[in-house]
Amino acid sequence: MNIILLGPPGAGKGTQAKKLVDSRGMVQLSTGDMLRAARTSGTEMGKKVAAIMDAGQLVTDEIVIGLIEEQLTSTRAPGGFIFDGFPRTLAQADALGELLARVGQNLATVIEMRVDDAALVDRITGRYTCGDCGEGYHDTAKPPAKAGICDNCGGGNFKRRADDNEDSLKIRLMAYYKETSPLIGYYYAKGLLQVVDGLASMDEVAAAIGGALENVD
Ligand code: AMP
Repeated sequence: MNIILLGPPGAGKGTQAKKLVDSRGMVQLSTGDMLRAARTSGTEMGKKVAAIMDAGQLVTDEIVIGLIEEQLTSTRAPGGFIFDGFPRTLAQADALGELLARVGQNLATVIEMRVDDAALVDRITGRYTCGDCGEGYHDTAKPPAKAGICDNCGGGNFKRRADDNEDSLKIRLMAYYKETSPLIGYYYAKGLLQVVDGLASMDEVAAAIGGALENVD
Protein backbone atom coordinates (compact mmCIF):
# COMPACT_ATOMS: atom_id res chain seq x y z
CA MET A 1 0.00 0.00 0.00
CA ASN A 2 1.55 3.29 -1.14
CA ILE A 3 0.47 6.50 0.58
CA ILE A 4 1.20 10.22 0.58
CA LEU A 5 1.41 12.27 3.77
CA LEU A 6 0.42 15.79 2.76
CA GLY A 7 0.65 18.91 4.91
CA PRO A 8 2.61 22.10 5.54
CA PRO A 9 6.09 22.09 7.07
CA GLY A 10 5.79 21.15 10.73
CA ALA A 11 2.54 19.21 10.30
CA GLY A 12 4.26 16.08 11.60
CA LYS A 13 4.69 14.16 8.33
CA GLY A 14 8.18 12.92 9.14
CA THR A 15 7.25 11.88 12.69
CA GLN A 16 4.21 9.93 11.53
CA ALA A 17 6.10 8.40 8.62
CA LYS A 18 8.68 7.00 11.06
CA LYS A 19 5.89 5.51 13.17
CA LEU A 20 4.47 3.78 10.08
CA VAL A 21 7.91 2.44 9.20
CA ASP A 22 8.16 0.90 12.69
CA SER A 23 4.58 -0.37 12.95
CA ARG A 24 3.86 -1.51 9.38
CA GLY A 25 7.26 -2.08 7.78
CA MET A 26 6.65 0.60 5.18
CA VAL A 27 9.50 2.48 3.47
CA GLN A 28 9.67 6.26 3.98
CA LEU A 29 10.65 8.29 0.93
CA SER A 30 11.37 11.84 2.09
CA THR A 31 12.71 14.11 -0.64
CA GLY A 32 13.79 16.59 2.08
CA ASP A 33 15.94 13.86 3.72
CA MET A 34 17.37 12.83 0.32
CA LEU A 35 18.29 16.44 -0.50
CA ARG A 36 19.88 16.96 2.94
CA ALA A 37 21.90 13.76 2.46
CA ALA A 38 23.08 15.03 -0.95
CA ARG A 39 24.24 18.24 0.71
CA THR A 40 26.08 16.43 3.49
CA SER A 41 27.87 14.16 1.07
CA GLY A 42 28.79 17.19 -1.05
CA THR A 43 27.48 15.98 -4.41
CA GLU A 44 27.13 18.49 -7.28
CA MET A 45 23.36 18.32 -6.91
CA GLY A 46 23.68 18.87 -3.14
CA LYS A 47 25.72 22.03 -3.73
CA LYS A 48 23.20 23.26 -6.28
CA VAL A 49 20.20 22.95 -3.95
CA ALA A 50 21.78 24.17 -0.69
CA ALA A 51 20.97 27.89 -1.01
CA ILE A 52 17.46 27.19 -2.33
CA MET A 53 16.67 24.94 0.64
CA ASP A 54 18.08 27.36 3.21
CA ALA A 55 15.92 30.11 1.77
CA GLY A 56 12.85 27.88 2.09
CA GLN A 57 12.16 27.70 -1.66
CA LEU A 58 11.31 24.61 -3.66
CA VAL A 59 14.03 22.88 -5.67
CA THR A 60 13.16 22.04 -9.27
CA ASP A 61 10.62 19.35 -10.13
CA GLU A 62 13.24 17.68 -12.31
CA ILE A 63 15.59 17.08 -9.38
CA VAL A 64 13.05 15.68 -6.93
CA ILE A 65 11.25 13.58 -9.55
CA GLY A 66 14.65 12.10 -10.45
CA LEU A 67 15.32 11.24 -6.80
CA ILE A 68 11.96 9.52 -6.41
CA GLU A 69 12.34 7.64 -9.69
CA GLU A 70 15.71 6.33 -8.55
CA GLN A 71 14.22 5.03 -5.28
CA LEU A 72 11.06 3.57 -6.81
CA THR A 73 13.02 1.56 -9.34
CA SER A 74 15.69 0.33 -6.92
CA THR A 75 14.00 -0.20 -3.53
CA ARG A 76 11.87 -3.15 -2.52
CA ALA A 77 8.99 -2.17 -0.25
CA PRO A 78 6.60 -5.05 0.38
CA GLY A 79 4.83 -2.93 3.04
CA GLY A 80 4.51 -0.03 0.59
CA PHE A 81 6.02 3.43 0.27
CA ILE A 82 5.20 6.53 2.32
CA PHE A 83 5.79 9.67 0.28
CA ASP A 84 6.77 12.40 2.76
CA GLY A 85 7.28 15.91 1.38
CA PHE A 86 6.65 14.68 -2.17
CA PRO A 87 4.77 15.52 -4.34
CA ARG A 88 4.80 19.28 -3.66
CA THR A 89 3.62 20.56 -7.06
CA LEU A 90 1.00 19.43 -9.58
CA ALA A 91 3.78 18.45 -12.00
CA GLN A 92 5.30 16.23 -9.31
CA ALA A 93 1.89 14.68 -8.60
CA ASP A 94 1.41 13.83 -12.28
CA ALA A 95 4.95 12.42 -12.46
CA LEU A 96 4.36 10.26 -9.38
CA GLY A 97 1.22 8.78 -10.95
CA GLU A 98 3.18 7.92 -14.09
CA LEU A 99 6.15 6.47 -12.19
CA LEU A 100 3.92 4.26 -10.04
CA ALA A 101 2.06 3.02 -13.11
CA ARG A 102 5.37 2.23 -14.79
CA VAL A 103 6.44 -0.03 -11.89
CA GLY A 104 2.97 -1.65 -11.74
CA GLN A 105 1.87 0.07 -8.55
CA ASN A 106 -0.73 2.58 -7.47
CA LEU A 107 -1.57 5.05 -4.74
CA ALA A 108 -3.85 3.71 -2.00
CA THR A 109 -4.62 7.01 -0.28
CA VAL A 110 -3.46 10.55 0.44
CA ILE A 111 -3.63 11.68 4.04
CA GLU A 112 -3.82 15.41 4.59
CA MET A 113 -2.51 16.40 8.03
CA ARG A 114 -4.40 19.59 8.77
CA VAL A 115 -2.86 22.15 11.16
CA ASP A 116 -3.12 25.91 11.64
CA ASP A 117 -0.24 28.26 10.92
CA ALA A 118 0.15 29.59 14.47
CA ALA A 119 1.05 26.12 15.74
CA LEU A 120 3.62 25.62 12.99
CA VAL A 121 5.90 28.48 14.05
CA ASP A 122 6.28 27.01 17.53
CA ARG A 123 6.67 23.45 16.26
CA ILE A 124 9.31 24.36 13.72
CA THR A 125 11.42 26.87 15.60
CA GLY A 126 11.58 24.58 18.66
CA ARG A 127 12.43 21.29 16.98
CA TYR A 128 15.78 19.49 16.78
CA THR A 129 17.06 15.95 16.36
CA CYS A 130 19.79 13.72 17.71
CA GLY A 131 22.54 13.74 15.10
CA ASP A 132 23.55 10.19 16.04
CA CYS A 133 20.24 8.28 15.97
CA GLY A 134 17.74 10.73 14.43
CA GLU A 135 15.38 10.84 17.45
CA GLY A 136 13.25 14.01 17.31
CA TYR A 137 12.96 16.54 20.16
CA HIS A 138 11.32 19.90 20.88
CA ASP A 139 12.41 22.69 23.26
CA THR A 140 9.15 22.69 25.21
CA ALA A 141 6.96 19.83 23.95
CA LYS A 142 9.58 17.06 24.10
CA PRO A 143 12.91 17.89 25.75
CA PRO A 144 15.21 14.94 26.56
CA ALA A 145 14.77 13.53 30.10
CA LYS A 146 18.36 14.56 30.92
CA ALA A 147 19.38 17.90 29.37
CA GLY A 148 21.86 17.48 26.53
CA ILE A 149 21.63 13.67 26.39
CA CYS A 150 19.56 11.73 23.86
CA ASP A 151 16.96 9.48 25.56
CA ASN A 152 17.29 6.95 22.78
CA CYS A 153 21.04 6.48 22.24
CA GLY A 154 22.79 8.48 24.98
CA GLY A 155 24.49 10.73 22.40
CA GLY A 156 24.88 14.46 22.89
CA ASN A 157 25.19 15.64 19.32
CA PHE A 158 21.94 17.52 18.65
CA LYS A 159 21.18 19.28 15.36
CA ARG A 160 18.77 21.95 14.18
CA ARG A 161 17.86 22.32 10.52
CA ALA A 162 19.25 25.47 8.88
CA ASP A 163 15.81 26.23 7.41
CA ASP A 164 13.94 25.89 10.74
CA ASN A 165 13.82 29.63 11.45
CA GLU A 166 10.96 32.11 11.19
CA ASP A 167 12.16 33.87 8.01
CA SER A 168 12.61 30.67 6.08
CA LEU A 169 9.36 29.26 7.47
CA LYS A 170 7.39 32.20 6.01
CA ILE A 171 8.73 31.37 2.56
CA ARG A 172 8.14 27.63 3.05
CA LEU A 173 4.54 28.30 4.06
CA MET A 174 4.01 30.54 1.05
CA ALA A 175 5.42 27.80 -1.18
CA TYR A 176 3.03 25.34 0.48
CA TYR A 177 -0.05 27.46 -0.12
CA LYS A 178 0.91 28.45 -3.66
CA GLU A 179 2.37 25.23 -5.02
CA THR A 180 1.36 22.33 -2.78
CA SER A 181 -2.13 23.04 -1.42
CA PRO A 182 -3.70 22.61 -4.92
CA LEU A 183 -2.85 18.92 -4.48
CA ILE A 184 -5.63 18.70 -1.88
CA GLY A 185 -8.20 19.34 -4.62
CA TYR A 186 -6.28 17.20 -7.10
CA TYR A 187 -6.40 14.10 -4.87
CA TYR A 188 -9.92 14.85 -3.61
CA ALA A 189 -11.11 14.77 -7.21
CA LYS A 190 -9.42 11.40 -7.65
CA GLY A 191 -11.30 10.09 -4.59
CA LEU A 192 -8.04 9.48 -2.72
CA LEU A 193 -8.05 12.21 -0.04
CA GLN A 194 -8.54 11.62 3.68
CA VAL A 195 -8.03 14.30 6.34
CA VAL A 196 -6.70 13.93 9.90
CA ASP A 197 -6.34 16.57 12.61
CA GLY A 198 -2.60 17.22 12.78
CA LEU A 199 -2.94 19.28 15.96
CA ALA A 200 -3.94 16.28 18.08
CA SER A 201 -1.28 14.47 20.13
CA MET A 202 1.30 12.36 18.30
CA ASP A 203 -0.42 9.12 19.37
CA GLU A 204 -3.88 10.40 18.46
CA VAL A 205 -2.66 11.41 15.01
CA ALA A 206 -1.05 7.97 14.60
CA ALA A 207 -4.36 6.32 15.56
CA ALA A 208 -6.26 8.51 13.09
CA ILE A 209 -3.83 7.59 10.32
CA GLY A 210 -4.18 3.91 11.27
CA GLY A 211 -7.96 4.32 10.88
CA ALA A 212 -7.53 6.02 7.51
CA LEU A 213 -5.37 3.14 6.31
CA GLU A 214 -7.98 0.59 7.40
CA ASN A 215 -10.46 2.35 5.11
CA VAL A 216 -8.32 1.35 2.15
CA ASP A 217 -6.85 -1.98 3.35
P1 AMP B 1 11.29 19.03 4.02
O1 AMP B 1 12.29 18.25 4.79
O2 AMP B 1 10.25 18.17 3.37
O3 AMP B 1 10.67 20.15 4.83
O4 AMP B 1 12.08 19.73 2.81
C1 AMP B 1 13.12 20.65 3.06
C2 AMP B 1 13.39 21.47 1.80
O5 AMP B 1 13.82 20.60 0.74
C3 AMP B 1 12.20 22.22 1.23
O6 AMP B 1 11.98 23.48 1.86
C4 AMP B 1 12.62 22.37 -0.24
O7 AMP B 1 13.62 23.37 -0.39
C5 AMP B 1 13.28 21.03 -0.51
N1 AMP B 1 12.29 20.00 -0.95
C6 AMP B 1 11.97 18.84 -0.30
N2 AMP B 1 11.07 18.13 -1.00
C7 AMP B 1 10.79 18.86 -2.12
C8 AMP B 1 9.92 18.68 -3.21
N3 AMP B 1 9.12 17.58 -3.32
N4 AMP B 1 9.90 19.62 -4.19
C9 AMP B 1 10.69 20.72 -4.12
N5 AMP B 1 11.53 20.97 -3.09
C10 AMP B 1 11.58 20.04 -2.09
